[in-house]
Parts: sequence; C-alpha cells; structure tokens
Amino acid sequence: MFIETRGNDNQKPEEVEFSYAILNPSASFGGLYVPKELPSFDADFFENAKNKSYKEVTLEILDMFHIDIEKSVLEEAVNLYDKFDDTLHPVPLVQIKEDLHVNELYHGPTRAFKDMALQPFGHILSHLAQKENQNYLILAATSGDTGPATLDTFANKKNIQVACLYPSGGTSDVQRLQMVTQEGKNLKVIGIKGNFDDAQSALKSLLASQTFKEELVKDGIKLSAANSVNFGRIIFQIIYHVFGYISLLKQNKINKGEKFYQIVPSGNFGNALGAYYAKKMGLPIEKILIASNINNILTELITQGRYDLRDKKLLLTTSPAMDILISSNVERVLFDKFGATRCKELMDCLNQNRHYELSKEELALLQEDFSAIYSDDIYAKDTINNYAKNGYIMDPHTATCLKAYENLREKNLQTILCSTAEWTKFAPTMLNALRGDEKKYPDIEALEGFSQALHVKIPQSISKLFTKEILHSNVVEKDGIEKEILDFIKEG
Ligand SMILES: *Cc1c(COP(=O)(O)O)cnc(C)c1O
Repeated sequence: MFIETRGNDNQKPEEVEFSYAILNPSASFGGLYVPKELPSFDADFFENAKNKSYKEVTLEILDMFHIDIEKSVLEEAVNLYDKFDDTLHPVPLVQIKEDLHVNELYHGPTRAFKDMALQPFGHILSHLAQKENQNYLILAATSGDTGPATLDTFANKKNIQVACLYPSGGTSDVQRLQMVTQEGKNLKVIGIKGNFDDAQSALKSLLASQTFKEELVKDGIKLSAANSVNFGRIIFQIIYHVFGYISLLKQNKINKGEKFYQIVPSGNFGNALGAYYAKKMGLPIEKILIASNINNILTELITQGRYDLRDKKLLLTTSPAMDILISSNVERVLFDKFGATRCKELMDCLNQNRHYELSKEELALLQEDFSAIYSDDIYAKDTINNYAKNGYIMDPHTATCLKAYENLREKNLQTILCSTAEWTKFAPTMLNALRGDEKKYPDIEALEGFSQALHVKIPQSISKLFTKEILHSNVVEKDGIEKEILDFIKEG
C-alpha cells in the first residue's frame, strides 16, 4: 500500500494501491505517494540472482512489492527491455578503474536513462487506462531527455494521449529531433518560447487548472503526468542499482557482504531515491554519493542541511538535465527520515519562504546515507577529455560523478557510478571537450567530428534523425499552450 508524504487531508483515501498512486500521482497537500513499507532482500537473494537475467531480477523485485498489477502485464512491460542494444544485457556494468565501475543506463531507444523506467511504466499505465475504459492525457515538460522517452513509450498506445512541452532553442538538436520527428497520432509536441522553468510552470498550472480539467472531461479525458514524482517510475529505478551490484558479484569484483559506494548524477533526485530505497531494502551500499553541477542546491542540503532558493538563480550548464533548483524527490527522503508532520512543515516552509533548514540531528541522519559534491563545466570537459583519451567515453552528466569519486570516498571500497546518457545526445559539448574549444557546433557536425576523432559509431537511431520528416513544428507563446492542447484533443 501507498501513503502520503505530507499526511492525509481526510478527502483523499488514507492508503492506496499502486495503480491508484500512478494514475493519480498528486497526494494530499501537494505531497507524493510513497510505499508504506519497503520489502527486504533475504539472505541469499544476491547470490541466487547471479544466475538470473535483468528481466528475471526485475520481475522478482516487483513481486516483492506485491503491487496490484497482474503478472502477465508486468512480464509484457519488462519485455520492453528487449528494445535495448543487447537484449540479454540491457544494463552493462563496465570497469574503468581498479575500483570504479560504470552502470550504463542509456542503452534504450532514446539514449538516456529515462528509458529504464519509462519503457515499462508506459506499458503499465496504458494497460490501466484500458482496464478502466478511461482516456488519459499525459502532460510532460522536458529539458531534453524525459520528452523523447515519454513520447517513445506512449506512441500509439491505447487510451493515452501525450502533450509534451519543451523549451524551443533550449535542447540539443538531437533531443529536439527525437521529439519533433516522433510518429504517433496520439502525440503532440509543442515548443515553448521560454526556458525549461517556463515549460515546467506551464505544466504545473495546467495540472492545477479546474477549467482545463473540465474542458477535458467534456471529451471524456482525465489528466495525469509522467514526471519522476510518479512512483511508477521510481520502482523501476530501484532495480538497476541492485543489478549493478549483482554484476559486480558475478564479475568477482566484490566479496559477499562487502559494501560499495554508489555515485548518482542528480537533478530531480529520482535516480538517487531509487538507490536510497535499494539501500533500505538491504543492498550493501556504504553511502550514496550525489554529484551535481553548479546548480548545487543538493550539495548545500546534504553538506549543510539548508535548502535555500532565496539567493539562487537557475544557471545553464553543459549538463542541462541537472539544471534544476526544485528537486522534487528529496521530499520522499525527508518523509522517510522525519515523518509526515515534519515533512509537511519543511515543504510548506519552502513554498512560503523559499527555504528550510534541518536541525543538526536531522542533518546527521541525512548524512548517514548521503554525501554530495558539485563540479563546473570546465571540470566536466576536462574529465570527458581525459577519459576519452584513455578509451572511455562519458557524457557531461556522467562526468560530474568523477568529482565525487575523487573527493567523497572515505574508505577504499568498490564504487559504481551511474552513466545517465549516451554521448550522442550532447555531441557539441563532447567535441568542445576533445578539441578544447568553445565553438558552437551544430549537432550533426559535432557527431561526425567526435565519431571520426575517436573511431566510435553513431547509432542509427541518432543518425537517421537528421533525415526524418518533421511532424511537429509548432512553437507557441506560454499563454497559447492551453489552446494548442485543447485543439489537439478536439481533433483527436
Ligand atoms: C534526468 C537526468 C538526470 C537527473 O536524474 P534525476 O533522477 O532527475 O536526478 C541526470 N542525467 C541525465 C542525462 C538525465 O537525463
């Protein structure tokens, strides 16, 4: 069962099943749904899992949660990992140093780790909508990776329509093309004149708008969202952390019972929350090391116990998926550690005063599980360049993890870092790093330049984007979004 991070308002049900929580992701007082209890791994879970495939381990962990989704549906959902590069090994663990291993989470259809959760989640959500005989409009706002992954998973799915908002000019060419060339009659992609915050706040105001919902109801449509506050995504983000450790065991790189560090490049904190839940379930993580860019709000929280937006402005970096100041999933950790009353108090304080402060004792509790550090774009480019020269290619988000590896480990333990995107999504930055220049390369030129310099292939799914037909060319002002979406629904 699932309960609410800010307590119950006596209007909504006190406990809900998984299916309810993912169809209606906003809980009382603007809170989020969290599992009432987490299952635990039994003594020989990890040893037994050494002989199992990623899909088998996934099904086993889902089973431990006793969610109200039929086994056959979960099996179909998990079979979507067959769309990944290597169907037997969708998530390779690659050793790059004696004690450092990369969990490559980006081998799915849209080349970023969002596919890990959105592929199976899309299948489950569409199944539930069909079962209810209810049509849903899913809203998504993206800085570049969530959009393509959401569109890919819902394309042509029954009972689902998607409206995806992206900041026009604010994404890479590859990310934009992934969205505007995506086929599917049930999809609408809208460029916004503004930045990601504008797209995100437009989405939030539509989700809260009674008149918008009433317009949709006239057409028999309910509203939902597929952002990472939806627990349907979080559950799949627990599993790859577990599998990374199982791969270490399988490769004989770690002894039974020995702990390891887990490094996560973080923005909205969904990936890190998955690691936290995995740790609580019994995965032997020594500490979760959080890597950020110069939007260092998470570093401040975890090192100083202070979440303060008052003196902060969002800064644009070469790791745009981490350019974020309001990191939604932190709330689930606050709830888990301090309970609903205190969690609501902290979140209310953030909403009203744009800051909150943890007590010394609370900070100590947070630091039992997390350490954090941030790095700037120069560090990321130097790191990309150094590792590329030695034969390992990592994207600008992944590069921030090395700062944590170099600075935050207090013990000599094996370490796993999450690689969250393929280099091809950020080719201009990659070529800048390699050449040590600051030229603004078009993506196509940067892809070819980088690929030739390092003799790496550009996957077909990326190269073919440049010749595909553009299906969505609308770019609108912020106040034109609602009409654009309603027109799309009426056509539909
Ligand atoms: C979304 C994203 C992140 C941040 O992940 P969170 O779960 O939001 O913390 C990091 N890197 C890339 C490439 C992403 O797409």
